[in-house]
Amino acid sequence: MTDILQKPLEENFRLNPKQKSGLKKFGLNTYGDILNFFPIRYEKTLTQKPINGLQKEDEVSVYGRLSNLETGKTWSGKRPFSRGTLVDPTGKIKILWLNQPYLAKMFAGNPLVKISGKVSERKNTLCFVNPTIDKITEIPLPILNQDSENQDKNPFEPIYKETTGLSSRWFYFAVQKILRSGILEEQKDPIPSEILKKYNLPTLKSSFVWIHIPKKEGDYLAARKRFAFQEIFFIQLEKQKERKASQEKKSFRIEKTKKDLEGFLKKLPFRLTDAQDRAVSEILRDFKREFPMSRLLEGDVGSGKTAVAAIASYATISTPPPDNKFGGLQVAYMAPTEILANQHFKTFVETFAGLNIKVGLITGSGCKKFPSKINPNEATTISKSQLLKWVAQGEIPILIGTHSLIEKKVNFKNLAFVIIDEQHRFGTAQRSRLRKKDDILPHLLSMTATPIPRTLALTIYGDLDLTILDQMPSGRKPVITEIVTPQKRKETYEKIRHELVAGRQLYVVCPRINEADPEKEMALNVKSVTEEARRLKKEIFPEYEIGILHSKLKKDEKEKVMDKFTKNEIQILCATSVVEVGVNVPNATTIIIEGAERFGLAQLHQLRGRVLRSRHQAYCFVFSDSKSGKSIERLKAMITAKNGFELAELDLAQRGAGELYGQKQWGITDLGMEAIKNIKMVEAARNEAREIVESDPELKEPKHQHLKEILENQKGKYHFE
Ligand code: ADP
Ligand code: MG
Repeated sequence: MTDILQKPLEENFRLNPKQKSGLKKFGLNTYGDILNFFPIRYEKTLTQKPINGLQKEDEVSVYGRLSNLETGKTWSGKRPFSRGTLVDPTGKIKILWLNQPYLAKMFAGNPLVKISGKVSERKNTLCFVNPTIDKITEIPLPILNQDSENQDKNPFEPIYKETTGLSSRWFYFAVQKILRSGILEEQKDPIPSEILKKYNLPTLKSSFVWIHIPKKEGDYLAARKRFAFQEIFFIQLEKQKERKASQEKKSFRIEKTKKDLEGFLKKLPFRLTDAQDRAVSEILRDFKREFPMSRLLEGDVGSGKTAVAAIASYATISTPPPDNKFGGLQVAYMAPTEILANQHFKTFVETFAGLNIKVGLITGSGCKKFPSKINPNEATTISKSQLLKWVAQGEIPILIGTHSLIEKKVNFKNLAFVIIDEQHRFGTAQRSRLRKKDDILPHLLSMTATPIPRTLALTIYGDLDLTILDQMPSGRKPVITEIVTPQKRKETYEKIRHELVAGRQLYVVCPRINEADPEKEMALNVKSVTEEARRLKKEIFPEYEIGILHSKLKKDEKEKVMDKFTKNEIQILCATSVVEVGVNVPNATTIIIEGAERFGLAQLHQLRGRVLRSRHQAYCFVFSDSKSGKSIERLKAMITAKNGFELAELDLAQRGAGELYGQKQWGITDLGMEAIKNIKMVEAARNEAREIVESDPELKEPKHQHLKEILENQKGKYHFE
């Protein structure tokens, strides 16, 4: 960007220490930063009036200090209310809020506020009834100097996020000052003009004006759309460049057809689902090309991802290396935890038994090899150095492990294929280290059970091709799911007791670890792990052992609890939603989720996945204390949706991505996350980016010079893992 946007605020604004620290807190240093600090919402501008100028029926905003706040009940004794008095330099007026007793708590301490609404009359005095109220940090200027000229000009007031020293008004005036400096005349639009025209997006200049000083609703909507497109477009450009760059690399060619694999497939104890079959075809197609595969396989727990990985592994290890001298190509399979690595090792050993295929396991707590020399049906413990020697010589075709796999000491002879389970737990750097073991890049299959909507996956994993396993193997007993409202709580506990009496175990998931903070109005009714465990023991299930598990426990405390639960010394496990992946206790067939309205649907679905692995009928009781029909309706999707992806899409449509996924850790703005809702926009941005990168992979052409600069500037801004 041109220099003027880099102009430091400090040199051009008179800033007091509080303002300086506020700007620092928001990370705002330059003119450009302020212009890109978009309003969080817009309010219809109401005329501002001093209190002594108010008349009945006026729709106005009044600024002043709120005092005498108190709560009470109406004379009928039923309806709670809050009331108080607003005072400004010209007078005072009474304010009444019906049914909002918590306001008294939220606005305690005589704060400065803005009150907006219609003036009414009660008992011959003017007052506000149920107006909107916002805390402010200073009384805005126009009201103090009666600057009426400034008042009716703009139909909307942009509202900016505030902090000590920086009011929304401060930002408003700062933006005005910057815009008046003529800064926009010199800016080059980062989006090529053909693209703007094609999608009917406003120019950069119009967009900055419209987003900060809209004359009509359409203005800021169009501007927001443009900036959202811009963000997604540049993420896509970066991702498409990465993708193109990896396609310039060489890989081992694995030329296997389905026919070649027939013998192996027949040995499997099941027939592939159509979705698995499709996934295998896509992988075999990728394997045949000269450049490495980069594919993401998304599928619910139990959809058979490991089986797909095993088939692709078989195709790899039954292919001789190009020099044809010794052995076959090799596979590395990395899991996020030791439990999972062990589990995969066991599965692979079973799958490849009788085929004379060696499998190695490397984790922090030791190494194994299958088969053992003494017993061809069993694995044996071996030393790390021995295992690594064999791997380096190419004698062990498949190595499974945790992050120990990417230690420097691990060298493969012909690493052709890398599988990564739950890759979002691994950093990009770790991933590329594993991939760069050789001059030749291995094919990459990244697998995840986290249901991510398609648009989000296309964006944050834009450098990967996507396969979705949207089908479960047939014959599975689905988890019986019930939405439980408060009046059915008791009978539900009795149902659950039946399961416990039959010898099964129970998970109880709560939204919080400790007792709620009574200061926080929204947290009041939310169950905590510790309190709920105490209550269940005392009131509901005194005859069973109850354990607790949450992220604040020490590692050995956690392990002890899990161990006891696994051994059925504890029958009921009260936990937060952050229980380790890989917790797999087949005898735990029932799960209660408390405060379900606080979770996303996709997250509820993942919690439910914990009881999926059992041979017995599994149950999921989704407890909601919400009285709103709408939120019960939302939860019912847990019963009707076919899979996690459908639920993830629903979440996205209803709540927006920002709330649901770790946007903070990724670096995407709120606006960018909004764009993720819009499949057309994401696809358009992706297609345009792809076209540019196809025609000019390095962005060398003069017309792409500007795009290249912007990309270089944004390096490190996003970090998707
Ligand atoms: P994921 O890794 O997606 O959670 P797995 O590959 O571990 O799922 O499969 C879960 C279980 O389902 C395993 O016991 C596996 O043997 C079995 N399975 C996989 N594919 C099929 C299929 N097509 N038909 C029947 N069972 C299958
Ligand atoms: Mg799996």
